[in-house]
Amino acid sequence: MLKPQKKLEKVLIANRGEIALRILRACKEMGIKTVAVYSTADKELMHLGLADETVCIGPAPANLSYLHIPAIIAAAEVTGATAIHPGYGFLAENADFAEQVEKSGFAFIGPKADTIRLMGDKVSAKHAMIAAGVPTVPGSDGPLPEDEETALRIGREVGYPVIIKAAGGGGGRGMRVVHREEDLIEAAKQTREEAGAWFSNPIVYLEKYLTNPRHVEVQVISDGQGNAIHLGDRDCSLQRRHQKVLEEAPAPGIDETARAEVLARCVKACVDINYRGAGTFEFLYENGRFYFIEMNTRVQVEHPVSEMVTGIDIVKEMLSIAAGNKLSFTQADVNIHGHSLECRINAEDPATFMPSPGMVKHFHAPGGNGVRVDSHLYSGYKVPSNYDSLIGKLITWGSTRDEAMARMRNALDEIVVDGIKTNIPLHRDLVNDEGFCKGGVNIHYLEHKLANQ
Ligand code: ADP
Repeated sequence: MLKPQKKLEKVLIANRGEIALRILRACKEMGIKTVAVYSTADKELMHLGLADETVCIGPAPANLSYLHIPAIIAAAEVTGATAIHPGYGFLAENADFAEQVEKSGFAFIGPKADTIRLMGDKVSAKHAMIAAGVPTVPGSDGPLPEDEETALRIGREVGYPVIIKAAGGGGGRGMRVVHREEDLIEAAKQTREEAGAWFSNPIVYLEKYLTNPRHVEVQVISDGQGNAIHLGDRDCSLQRRHQKVLEEAPAPGIDETARAEVLARCVKACVDINYRGAGTFEFLYENGRFYFIEMNTRVQVEHPVSEMVTGIDIVKEMLSIAAGNKLSFTQADVNIHGHSLECRINAEDPATFMPSPGMVKHFHAPGGNGVRVDSHLYSGYKVPSNYDSLIGKLITWGSTRDEAMARMRNALDEIVVDGIKTNIPLHRDLVNDEGFCKGGVNIHYLEHKLANQ
C-alpha cells in the first residue's frame, strides 16, 4: 500500500446525522480539522460536540440550510475550510454545487462537476456506459422520440413490458411500466409531463422492464489520475418503494463469470471517464446477467458493508484522493473476506411506515464481535421532523453469511431505542425470514411479503 503524501487541512461537512458523524470520525482519524454546519432544528446533533468548529447555516427547512449553497460556501469561507464533503442526499449529486465549491477555491470531495452532470442525466450516463462496454438494459439507447410511429417501433423491438423513465429522474420517481403497445403513447406523454414538472427536464427514455431482477451494485474508487479499483458488490434487493431497507456484501449466489466481467467493466468505465472519488454502479441482475441502470457519484448509505468485507475505509480514501493523492492501494490489495449485513434503522412506524420523530428516551447500542453501529443517536436526543427518518445503521460482519446473520439477530435483540417508533421489529422479522435467509431474493420480495401480512 502507498502512503498518502498530501493531506486536507480543514474539511467542512455539508450534511447532518449519521453520515456527518461518519465523515467527522474519518477526518479526526487522519488529523484533519473539521467544520460542522447545522440548521436551527439540529442544534442537538452529536457531531457538533466533536467538531473543531460549528456554523449555523439557516433555519430548519432544508432548502434554507443544507440545500442553500451560498450559506454553505460562506461557512467554508469564514472558517477557512479547505475542502467540502457533501455526504449523501442534499447537495451530494448537485453538479452546480460541486462547480461553485471548486470555483470558490475549495476542494470538492467527490467527482468533478462535469462527471456528476454526465451521470446525473440517465440518458448520457447510459451512453457513456455503452461506450465503456458496461452491459445496460436494452432500450431506446437515447431519448424516446416524440414521433409516435418511431416510438411504437422501438417499443415493439424492445418487447413488452417496457418501462418509461425520466432522463433527469431520481428517488424512484418519474417511471412508468407499460404492458401493452396501445398504452405506450399515453404513458410516454404522462411521464414527459411529470418529468418536466419534477426535474425540469421532459426527456424520457424507454427500457425493457425486467420482471424478476435483483438489485446488485458495484462499489468503485478512482483517483482521477488514471487509477481505479472495485471493492466488490452489494445486494440491495430488499426495498420498499424503491428505498433500500437491508443490504449485504457480497451479493449471494452470483454467477462468478458474470461477476468478474462486470467488476472489470466498472473499473474500466472509471478509467474511461476519468472518475474521481467513490462511486457506485447500480445494476439489475436477472438470469445470471447484469444490466446497468445508473451510477451514484457519491458515498452511499450502504458503504459500510463493503468496508467490512474489504477492510478498506472508503471515506478516508475519498479524503486522501481529494487531497490530490493517488489511490493508496491496488486491486491486488482488495480481498473480499467474509460477509456483512446492514440494517437501516428508521424513525418510523414498523407497520404503517409513517415517520415517528421525537425524543429518544433511552438508546442502547448493541456490541460484540463483528458488530458496528453508525448512528448519531444518544439518550435524550430529539429526532427532528424535518429530515429523512434514518437514525442509524446496524452493521455486522461474519466469516460466513450465516455468522453475519446470527450476529445481526443478536444485535437486533440487544438494541434499545425507547420513546419513538422504529422499524427494528421489521428487521427482526427479516433476519428470520426463510427466503431472505436462503439468499438471492428479488426487488419485489419485501413489498410482496408486506402485502401478504
Ligand atoms: P432512481 O434514480 O429514481 O432510483 P433507477 O433507475 O435507479 O431510478 O430505478 C429505480 C428502481 O426502479 C430500480 O431499483 C428498479 O426497482 C426499478 N427499475 C428501474 N429500471 C427498471 C427496469 N428496466 N426493469 C425493472 N425495474 C426497473
